[in-house]
Amino acid sequence: MRLVVLGGGESGVGTAILGKKKGYDVFVSDFGKIKNNYKEVLISNGIDWEEERHTEDLILNADVVMKSPGIPEKAPIVKKLIEKGIPVISEIEFAAPFTKAVTIGITGSNGKTTTTMLIYHLLKSAGLNVGLGGNIGKSFAEQVVDDTYDSYVLELSSFQLDGIVDYKPHIAIITNISPDHLDRYEYNYQNYINSKFRITMNQTEDDYLIYDADDEAITTWLENNKTKAKLIPFSLTKTFNEGAFIQNNKMEVKINQDEFLMETESIALEGKHNMKNAMAATSVAKLMQIRKATIRESLSNFQGVEHRLEKVLKIQNVQYINDSKATNVNATFFALDSMNMPTVWIVGGVDKGNDYNELMSLVREKVKAIICLGVDNKKIIDAFGNVVDMMVEVTNMNDAVRMAQRLTEKGDAVLLSPACASFDLFENYEDRGNQFKQAVHNL
Ligand code: ADP
Repeated sequence: MRLVVLGGGESGVGTAILGKKKGYDVFVSDFGKIKNNYKEVLISNGIDWEEERHTEDLILNADVVMKSPGIPEKAPIVKKLIEKGIPVISEIEFAAPFTKAVTIGITGSNGKTTTTMLIYHLLKSAGLNVGLGGNIGKSFAEQVVDDTYDSYVLELSSFQLDGIVDYKPHIAIITNISPDHLDRYEYNYQNYINSKFRITMNQTEDDYLIYDADDEAITTWLENNKTKAKLIPFSLTKTFNEGAFIQNNKMEVKINQDEFLMETESIALEGKHNMKNAMAATSVAKLMQIRKATIRESLSNFQGVEHRLEKVLKIQNVQYINDSKATNVNATFFALDSMNMPTVWIVGGVDKGNDYNELMSLVREKVKAIICLGVDNKKIIDAFGNVVDMMVEVTNMNDAVRMAQRLTEKGDAVLLSPACASFDLFENYEDRGNQFKQAVHNL
């Protein structure tokens, strides 16, 4: 069997290694450059590869093709493969049959990484032998080579899910859905929603789907479509006989006739969105029969993930917060919502078709000044120019942070939550967040 891997990044190289170990004739092809460390791994495993081209003769003879998530379906080579009827699948689909471990799959527009890391933290703290993969860390396929884990927590993007055929997680989570990546979905929001729900398409009566019952895109899909999985909703506003909710400042998770209760105040993560993430993760922990004391302790000591509402420093009683990962309006909505002091908001970057109206009332209530940092400032200025007292444009992170300091007084906060992609001024959102932190430290 010939396995061709398109894309020589983490998931591609991991899949190639697994394929090789399982006896496939493997070839890796990347239209860009392959990083040196990955080349070395391919060479040491005796795997053929090419870069900066796709040689059709070496690709169109595949029995199966693993496509890396970054490569769009409309790439010419992918179109040719599909025309020829050659299966094009994702890393998860290729690797899952080679492990007996239980998988927990997390998808959604926002909150995937936070929820995935929290679940991993909960299960690890309980002493389970658990792996972490998908969009995070080390390739899932590569971990399956040795397959030493009993369970895996997998962050799954819609692109990974587009490439599944038979894969099913035992426990699936959809954190929320809001428009994102629509360029990959023919600018059709419904296509993107359907893509997220592929996570449940192969689930059976023994499996679970945990979902945000406050999310209209999710509840509408569930009203109009079927899943065999047992449903476990979570909500900030409703209550359930089976599910997770907030009541009287307590998080309640009711599953299998058992109830877990915890004061929301004792949960280390802050903000309404993080209460949702905590409810989703605790539901998983309950399904995995983790002890309540362990769940309680893990939720009270999990500090969150870098670049997600990360508290950087307090300088002269002004709190600086790095939320560089907020690359869309929905994420920024929850960041602003969680602010409980007057805020200087650093926003902007590459606009993704943002509708800033959704933020209007929060900005009125919480934001004292706006600092625009990016190529697409005009829309931000048009939206909020008359709403805040102060609106400034800057061209680099140092100026943004220095300006922010000038506009604050004791008891204020400075929040970097761009609601935009970072590719205009930065390498990626990590670079943007790191530059922010450095600039804050320089103050
Ligand atoms: P993802 O992996 O889906 O991009 P992250 O956990 O990295 O999600 O968070 C991305 C951004 O969204 C951050 O700004 C974070 O503060 C915010 N966020 C986290 N959880 C949620 C949620 N449940 N709903 C909305 N925004 C969220």
